[in-house]
Amino acid sequence: MLSMYRRCLAFSLLSLFAGMSVQAQDDPPRAITPIAGDLYRFQNRFHYSVFLVTAQGIIVTDPIDAGAAQWLKAELGRRFPGKTIRYLIYSHSHADHIAGGEVFADSATVVAHERAKARIVEDKVPTAAPQITFTQRMSIELGGKTVELYYLGRNHSDNLIVMRFPAERVLFVVDLVAPKRLPFRDFPDGHLDEWIGTLKMIEGMDFDILAPGHAGLGNKADIAEHRRYLELLRERVKSEMDAGKPLEEIKRSVKMSEYESWGAYRDWLEPNVEGMYRYLRARGTN
Ligand SMILES: [Zn+2]
Repeated sequence: MLSMYRRCLAFSLLSLFAGMSVQAQDDPPRAITPIAGDLYRFQNRFHYSVFLVTAQGIIVTDPIDAGAAQWLKAELGRRFPGKTIRYLIYSHSHADHIAGGEVFADSATVVAHERAKARIVEDKVPTAAPQITFTQRMSIELGGKTVELYYLGRNHSDNLIVMRFPAERVLFVVDLVAPKRLPFRDFPDGHLDEWIGTLKMIEGMDFDILAPGHAGLGNKADIAEHRRYLELLRERVKSEMDAGKPLEEIKRSVKMSEYESWGAYRDWLEPNVEGMYRYLRARGTN
């Protein structure tokens, strides 16, 4: 009787999850959750950005896409009536994070790295073009609150910035690290030695909470773990290349079993190996 009940329960839970995933495809799950102080996290399915509410208005970051941005704009109007969206800051030029910026551009000044602007224009990314750009560091103050923007060199792309909220002790980092999850596929657009160098720089920055563009909130230990993953991957792929093995064999032989519990291990290990192989081959392995 009990086991029958368990089977029924398991079945109804399965049906529930199956139903949820069908619904999720039609209607992306969107959410707003507090991080610290007046800094919040905005989720659109598997993408995340952050926004800061101040006495003089709101600073938003990656719009993600037009539908997500419209939803967020309506929510901000409802939750924080009378507050104008004053700034929109892009993390980098990739369309999956910054499409739909035009939704905020009626009131917001759009800010990005100088090269992000060039790539947005060149690649015709469907978003509002940045109006203010910078090359190394920039600080934006609004209503007594601050966000600091840092360019740390080439890494996941050549125009990615990280955003530090000093009072909230939060760092918003997109696509350089996803806590307890493998890096995305084969590192498209990536510069892997410099990526590892960037993570070391981030380890030296002053913050407590890591707010990534994908996956759950983390901390500095997640940055160090991710850096270690990339270093080990580089070491293992390189030693197979030095032994003269072809890519197909390297894809089978390189394992990262210490990270088996991380998300996407089964799906993205091979693309990770292949991306590292192509990077090292283009760079020269010595
Ligand atoms: Zn990206």
